[in-house]
Amino acid sequence: MIKVVKFGGSSLADAVQFKKVANIIKSDPSRKYVVASAPGKRNSHDEKVTDLLLQCFRLAGEKRSIDETFEKVANRYREIIRDLKLSFSLDEDLAGIKMAIMHHAGCDYIASRGEYLNSKLLAAYLDFPFIDAEDCIFFDDAGKLDSEKTEKELSQVLSLHEYAVIPGFYGILPNGMIKTFSRGGSDITGSIVAGAVRADLYENWTDVSGMLMADPRYIDNPRPIAEITYRELRELSYMGATVMHDEAIFPVRKARIPINIRNTNDPKAPGTMIVSKAASNLVDTVITGIAGKKGITALHVEKDMMNSEVGFGKKVLEVLESHDISFEHLPSGIDTMSVLVESKAIEECKGSITAEMVKKVNPDSITIVENLCLVAVVGRGMVATEGTAARVFTALARNHVNIRMIDQGSSEINIIVAVEEKDFSTTIKAIYDEFVK
Ligand code: ASP
Repeated sequence: MIKVVKFGGSSLADAVQFKKVANIIKSDPSRKYVVASAPGKRNSHDEKVTDLLLQCFRLAGEKRSIDETFEKVANRYREIIRDLKLSFSLDEDLAGIKMAIMHHAGCDYIASRGEYLNSKLLAAYLDFPFIDAEDCIFFDDAGKLDSEKTEKELSQVLSLHEYAVIPGFYGILPNGMIKTFSRGGSDITGSIVAGAVRADLYENWTDVSGMLMADPRYIDNPRPIAEITYRELRELSYMGATVMHDEAIFPVRKARIPINIRNTNDPKAPGTMIVSKAASNLVDTVITGIAGKKGITALHVEKDMMNSEVGFGKKVLEVLESHDISFEHLPSGIDTMSVLVESKAIEECKGSITAEMVKKVNPDSITIVENLCLVAVVGRGMVATEGTAARVFTALARNHVNIRMIDQGSSEINIIVAVEEKDFSTTIKAIYDEFVK
């Protein structure tokens, strides 16, 4: 049994957290490969080491002193080492990194040093070998992950070690420069490592006990989700419910490795299992989760006999394409077609989009409706349960929410409603109460 375990920044923010992490790892010998983030926030006013390093990069670019900010970075590590009573030092590394920043090293290199230093430190504390990501995570010339080379190299290097710590977040370009994933990218490294060693489980340790059925900003104490499929997770995270970096799903999904989201501060909690195929489609709440996003604008295009005009939809979408805008949803009727887009994407080009549509498809009318939001009700249990849509709509009607649009994905695992932004929290609460309470 092999488990790959990834610990996020808050799990490795100070010595107290390091001790919890070590206990978790040592309590299960199958936790063999550890992927570490940079130290995160210790409290809500604190700064993440990655942010401090990026500040150093900017200061150096403006030819200002980095002394004070870099000292904050160095002290984070020195304090952890001191509090863990380790006879280990990162001073040489720190001096080299400071020098590199002052000599205008690349942004990604600087940002990546938080993970590099923290992983070295964790490896020393656990007495595990440290394997640098620059030796086994490869990007191509275009800056995309070179999965084939990475998998080959990683599995080979790790086959030589029973246990190891690998820094998250970065790898190397063919020209020898360090490149990072986007922010939060240690999740991706964890997933890549899990795929490469054919792990039985990818444990992603963070500071929440798994995913919740709804956003706690709108629902008091929402129920945790025990099990969710990759497809359900995709639907929810697309709507803004994230516990993990979006791209982290793909490497493990391909290898059919389940992910377990766990809480470093509550290791007994089972967390959320993310799986390819759930043990059962009979979910007691019918729905798995609710999520939503604000800032949506609808373009309604109307034209009599539109249904018989071949290529109408294509032309409408071509107008968006020529403005480099992707659409969110596309509900349509017989003589109407609606395109839902992110408001901020069309803010500055509404006029030219309308003008081009008039020219291209000569519609009877184009109406723009702003200040909408989308709420998705997601659940594999919906396929097998009658009346789910009726329950969603009735709950909204009861709460006086006017539904502006409805879209049910063809996979039948989601129902998406567009409502006015002012009804956002009422919508989420009404649906949650209907299915969960
Ligand atoms: N340290 C990086 C960040 O703050 C990457 C990560 O933690 O996953 O985004």
